[in-house]
Amino acid sequence: MQPEVSRGSRVVGRLAPSPTGAQHVGNARTYLIAWLSARSQGGELRLRIEDIDSPRVKAGAADLLVEDLRWLGLDWDGPIVVQSQRLSVYRQALQHLQAQELVYPCTCSRSDIALAASAPHAEHEGPVYPGTCAGRQVADAKLLQQQGRAYAWRFRVRHTPVFTDRLAGEVHLDLRRMGGDFVVWKNNNTPAYQLAVVVDDAAGGITEVVRGDDLIPSTPRQLLLYEALGWVPPAFAHVPLVVGTDGRRLAKRHGDTRLVQLRQAGVHAEALLGLLAWSCGWLDRIEPIRVQELLPLFRWEAIPRQPFVLLPEHLQAIGYSA
Ligand SMILES: [Zn+2]
Repeated sequence: MQPEVSRGSRVVGRLAPSPTGAQHVGNARTYLIAWLSARSQGGELRLRIEDIDSPRVKAGAADLLVEDLRWLGLDWDGPIVVQSQRLSVYRQALQHLQAQELVYPCTCSRSDIALAASAPHAEHEGPVYPGTCAGRQVADAKLLQQQGRAYAWRFRVRHTPVFTDRLAGEVHLDLRRMGGDFVVWKNNNTPAYQLAVVVDDAAGGITEVVRGDDLIPSTPRQLLLYEALGWVPPAFAHVPLVVGTDGRRLAKRHGDTRLVQLRQAGVHAEALLGLLAWSCGWLDRIEPIRVQELLPLFRWEAIPRQPFVLLPEHLQAIGYSA
């Protein structure tokens, strides 16, 4: 299957926020790194709104995140790509997987899978899919349709690709112990995250994916889809997250660190950029700086390999109390 755009030698990065809530300081840090990496190499950047996870998408959040990015001074090239407008493109990719019998229709509910799976599992990964429906062929979907049964499409995991991450180094995971065969098309007839992301990154000619390291387990799944669709995968850099003093990912319980709130409280973008740049090791102290001034300071090597613990005094240093 041909991607819509063929890749040149130019670096193309992307910002891919989900409008499932307001963007916070942690999101801003990852976007800043993605932006600086692409722009410091003279590369382009695409903006993509990942809005297919419809129950969690919040009205107005897409407009707000565009405002947040503009406030920070992070720009992008070309039109904004909106996933919910690209369903037919994702469907073509599904058909390509179906033609190779790499996917099968799965009628299991969440509780079916939890009941059938005996092995303990990582909390965020869910139980390993026990393969209940793996004996089905693509053609079996016709009968299910006639019976009016809802089904998802699952990808057959036969191996786990190893990949080299710019920050995490060589990553060896075992998908057979982490969820097993995974859903590429949901039973509500919308694409799953993994498929949509791969289709969009390939279509946009993306050469470099910079995102939070909570997505590391997604990467080998996406690499399997690149293999299956015959596309060249981008390079990956998974950035350690911003966490609160309890070591947990930044959330409401850590106070209000939403960018819109900082803006409304009169914090300047330059102040926040200074805090983020300091947290990445590009500045010796927290001081206001413009995003353009960070271009010559950006270095991957300086970014700490551990999560950044956001303390109340960091926010006080930029004139904000959460
Ligand atoms: Zn099943």
